[in-house]
Amino acid sequence: AAAAAPATDEPIQPPVEIKYTQLLINGNFVDAASGKTFPTLDPRTGEVIARVAEGDSEDINRAVAAARRAFDEGPWPRMTAYERCRVLLRFADLIERDAEEIAALETWDNGKTLAQSAGAEVPMLARCMRYYAGWADKIHGLVVPADGPHHVQVLHEPVGVAGQIIPWNFPLLMFAWKVGPALACGNAVVLKTAEQTPLSALYVASLLHEAGLPDGVLNVVSGFGPTAGAALCSHMGVDKLAFTGSTGTGQIVLELAARSNLKPVTLELGGKSPFIVMDDADVDQAVELAHHAVFFNQGQCCCAGSRTFVHERVYDEFVEKSKARAQKRVVGDPFRYGVEQGPQIDEEQFKKILRYVRSGVDSGATLVAGGDRAGNRGFYIQPTVFADAKDEMKIAKEEIFGPVQTILKFSGVEEVILRANATQYGLAAGVFTKGLDAANTLSRALRAGTVWVNCYDVFDAGIPFGGYKMSGVGREKGIYALRNYLQTKAVVTPIRDAAW
Ligand code: NAD
Repeated sequence: AAAAAPATDEPIQPPVEIKYTQLLINGNFVDAASGKTFPTLDPRTGEVIARVAEGDSEDINRAVAAARRAFDEGPWPRMTAYERCRVLLRFADLIERDAEEIAALETWDNGKTLAQSAGAEVPMLARCMRYYAGWADKIHGLVVPADGPHHVQVLHEPVGVAGQIIPWNFPLLMFAWKVGPALACGNAVVLKTAEQTPLSALYVASLLHEAGLPDGVLNVVSGFGPTAGAALCSHMGVDKLAFTGSTGTGQIVLELAARSNLKPVTLELGGKSPFIVMDDADVDQAVELAHHAVFFNQGQCCCAGSRTFVHERVYDEFVEKSKARAQKRVVGDPFRYGVEQGPQIDEEQFKKILRYVRSGVDSGATLVAGGDRAGNRGFYIQPTVFADAKDEMKIAKEEIFGPVQTILKFSGVEEVILRANATQYGLAAGVFTKGLDAANTLSRALRAGTVWVNCYDVFDAGIPFGGYKMSGVGREKGIYALRNYLQTKAVVTPIRDAAW
């Protein structure tokens, strides 16, 4: 049943018109210096949605120059914090005004369901902007009680021009997590969007200007990684870099930053997160949560719970029910009501996921559901479940980034801690149990930046997010993200004729 929809469906015409396809530099939408464009594709069909200006190093130079001017000459960093707060609040209101258009653009360009874009991601974008608007006028330093007659102030100042590179899996949320704290702190930004999904960021950036953002404070360059992205990482005029994407690209970004001007870098990278089901768990609930942990967003989540560890006492029942749940998952046109899973982002990811599925079969895991493409056009994949996987199999070690659940059996807490931590990654983990002791032990023992206990994928704006080990450097969201965009300055003055 899951496979039937996309083969016969005629794609639904998205209820939105594409207004912005140029680069946003210094407050204006402009063509790339080279005049080049590239196509952005509809993942439902592989057909071209629009051609978009293709920025490269020349455009990055123009964008960084505009951001530098906006930062060095103002007014943004020198406006009152309350005025910056109000721009971000007005922006959140405009996001809500245009919520339907923004959600439709996101679904069209990315393939995620409209229910998810409209019901979760656009509201989360607005919420995140209001969260950081709230911080804008609450960033203050402190006074240090120094030894001797000195008045010591510590000031928190914006770092300057922030370069930000985002991926295609959550274009709007990545915009929010990066642009929100950077602007709240008074920085200027050059944002490089992912080549697969350039459209929604251009639209919302136009709203930010409507809300009163001065020209040059946010510049958006669409384009490819090795050209536009690398130029941003290497630029001597960029004071800070924030990157989300694959671990391999993160290593390149860090190296380019080091070799240019040692700009500090925060990285949010890949993962192979464990989801642990203990033997006291309500199996029906555990199956449902584990299913969402891995299949959410077509499995294209850095924090996907992609290693499902199940206690041997509930294992057989869990596998049977996970199989049934995956087979019930509704795959189809993401604009259609009731659809749970749309297409993968592009042909490259689609083929890569199917290679992983073949490798799972070849290495001896038991394929219990799915295992093939769904339909005969676009990039749809059947919800796939492997049981009896072993830790050393590729499907249990590498990030698949697709709708593929890998179920592993364990028999004790100590054992599952060792196995769950035996990975280069450490982004997230899930624990499903009624036992307080197991919950406490596992949440402390797991080497991951987030541990969700009896829940998964909870992403409030205030909760810090980021990775241990090769899943990243630094944290986004919450107060932790502010630190990424602030410099710390100590100001020391003698106290003369002190009466104290
Ligand atoms: P990627 O890391 O190559 O791309 C992410 C961003 O980095 C894009 O904007 C891209 O243009 C840019 N980029 C690429 N090469 C660059 C370079 N040399 N210098 C500067 N910027 C560069 O990811 P991808 O190719 O889109 O996907 C590959 C794999 O990455 C996926 O299969 C998945 O495993 C993983 N991924 C992880 C996340 C995440 O949120 N952690 C997001 C997307 C992809």
